[in-house]
Amino acid sequence: VSDCVKFRELLEAYALGALDVPERAALEAHLATGCTDCAKALAEAHWLVNQLAYLAPEALPSAMLKVRLLQTVRAEAQAAKQSASPKSAIPFWIWAGVAALLVVTIYSAWNAQRLQHDIQATNQKATAILQQRRDLEAQLEAAKREATIVTDPASVKIALAAQKTPVPSSDRVLQLWLIPKAPGGKPIPSLTVRPDADGKFVLLVAHPPELMVQTKALAITEEPEGGSPQPTTAPRWVGGVS
Ligand SMILES: [Zn+2]
Repeated sequence: VSDCVKFRELLEAYALGALDVPERAALEAHLATGCTDCAKALAEAHWLVNQLAYLAPEALPSAMLKVRLLQTVRAEAQAAKQSASPKSAIPFWIWAGVAALLVVTIYSAWNAQRLQHDIQATNQKATAILQQRRDLEAQLEAAKREATIVTDPASVKIALAAQKTPVPSSDRVLQLWLIPKAPGGKPIPSLTVRPDADGKFVLLVAHPPELMVQTKALAITEEPEGGSPQPTTAPRWVGGVS
């Protein structure tokens, strides 16, 4: 039993890998005898050391662990002051080392958290810049398309009678129709658009010229979102192709 008490004091230093060779050999020889009490205490010592070594930001030391460390450091300091007892199983410097490890681990955990925060902020900035770029590209693409249609000599300009009409409800759109010259020809569905809050909208249609040649007039109706295969409401605007 007295052997066990002696070894018990070595277990934490053993788990830290801080025992000198003869002490380690003696302890390992004792553990090899199959002493369950010491094996249990060693498992506990390993747990304690692991707590110190693998402190994650979300696993800060428990109050119990802190108290245990502080008590041990204090007791060792006192023992070292009272007598430079060579019998002290765990030298004070080991506990100072453990405390330093704890401090360093907490510090690096804090550092890691700050780094994580910086990375997050940088990522957010990058995402915002990317989004801005995408918006600009979309605007440029729309402007290019607009310029292509407007400057194309084959473009047909259609004047629609200006009318004050209510903006369609959120699930409705305005749809453009090409009214064919052929008698009895059915209106050909074209683009749909949602006017802005002022009721303004621009429809730039990139239809092949031959289709426009066969078109007599344009009409705009209000339709469900996504458009309809044929008009379902009376036209709001009608304009002849000039
Ligand atoms: Zn034992």
